[in-house]
Amino acid sequence: MGDKGYRLVSREFQEAYRDGRTRVVRVGEVEIGEGRPVIVAGPCAVESREQTLEIAEAVKEAGADMLRGGAFKPRTSPYSFQGLGEKGLEILAEARELTGLPVVSEVLDPRLVGLVGQYVDMLQIGSRSMQNFPLLVEVGRYGKPVLLKRGMAATLREWLCAAEYIAKEGNLDIVLCERGVRTSVSGLYDRFTLDLDVIAPLKKETFLPILVDPSHSTGRAEMVPYAARAGIGAGAHGLLIEVIGENADPDTVFSDGKQGIRPSVLRELIREIR
Ligand code: PEP
Ligand code: MN
Repeated sequence: MGDKGYRLVSREFQEAYRDGRTRVVRVGEVEIGEGRPVIVAGPCAVESREQTLEIAEAVKEAGADMLRGGAFKPRTSPYSFQGLGEKGLEILAEARELTGLPVVSEVLDPRLVGLVGQYVDMLQIGSRSMQNFPLLVEVGRYGKPVLLKRGMAATLREWLCAAEYIAKEGNLDIVLCERGVRTSVSGLYDRFTLDLDVIAPLKKETFLPILVDPSHSTGRAEMVPYAARAGIGAGAHGLLIEVIGENADPDTVFSDGKQGIRPSVLRELIREIR
């Protein structure tokens, strides 16, 4: 095993990737890892059919490759909106039908992997769940591609050990996502601190593709385009971006309203990146 605690996800161990190649993870027709950066976009939470279908069509129109929205939300307070649950998954499935975009959504509970998995093309493990080991085992066994967000205080090793739990069950279709970590300055002018320094060492250590999430890291819509461009500059294989309706009031969005960019901003950002 070596003393790192992971090997299936390490370049060193996997001969096929020793030459520096990235594993291509396929989600529907979308290929994450080689070629042009992949843009995953959508609302933080599925709030209603109208809101989700409007945003889904708008992100498709803006050039996004995949749709993301939360039906089960990990909220700090138990009194905050927790998501629409299965109803939200049905709406996401309808949005996929409408746009043709593959869908990714978070699963929070190991008992619900099968339920969420029926509706989505990729399962998201959120930052707060990165070390929920039974959940990692379940998504590993389920077999659909997994988006593994970095824990907000996780080291590179802890993150790759979490990926190893999934890989150990026979699933190597894992995409990593840097979403900001907590530092002594986070919260002063941003929400977390986007750790772009992790990308180069991560690419050396693993062949798994890496996304950058400029939304949860900065927590502010006006900072998102800068962080997004920086993420691509730092070597990310794509971006995960939260979007609000073109005319939505950020204060009335159920979750993460302040960090959602509008579809018109997304379109311009994608144009620049491509
Ligand atoms: C999210 O993706 O909506 C989310 C809650 O992100 P994170 O797990 O990175 O906080
Ligand atoms: Mn969010």
